[in-house]
Amino acid sequence: MAVRIAYAVARQIAEHALSAAPDEACGILAGTRAQISRAIPLKNAADAPDRQFRFDPEEQLAALKALDADELGWVGVYHSHPKSPPIPSPEDIAAAVDSGLLQLIVSLESARPKLKLWQVEGSSVTPLSLALDTEVDTPIDDRLSQRHQVAIVVAAVASVLLLLAVSLMLLPPAPELAPPP
Ligand SMILES: [Zn+2]
Repeated sequence: MAVRIAYAVARQIAEHALSAAPDEACGILAGTRAQISRAIPLKNAADAPDRQFRFDPEEQLAALKALDADELGWVGVYHSHPKSPPIPSPEDIAAAVDSGLLQLIVSLESARPKLKLWQVEGSSVTPLSLALDTEVDTPIDDRLSQRHQVAIVVAAVASVLLLLAVSLMLLPPAPELAPPP
């Protein structure tokens, strides 16, 4: 089953990645394993932020306390790959193992930011499908920067796929055969 992510949250993550480049952006994801409803950007405290990411422990603690106060669960971690595909690096896998957290990676390798979700358990790294939730939309500014437009294109592609999936589910079931008289 796909993990749903709110449209505004996906856009926020793509924008954070674009503004942090050439460094990696990072942050935490909140909600449930069925629905990612919030992203909290954190600063990247790694020694080489263009190649790795590390949360600042105090900032992370403050963010988790804020989630607690809003009764939201910590479900995942996101970070960006400014120049590489959205695939976890060996270092990413080592950091994620046993955390039980979803791992979202946004890649800026191509013109359009690409979001990919992963589950890391022991030595297995599994891609999860991510569905954009357009029901919780937010108003869009009239004048859009190019970055906004890029994020919206990503969102639009994902929402078309979601609509396709929804319309397939809405197809009427095959008619039942009438019982013999
Ligand atoms: Zn990485």
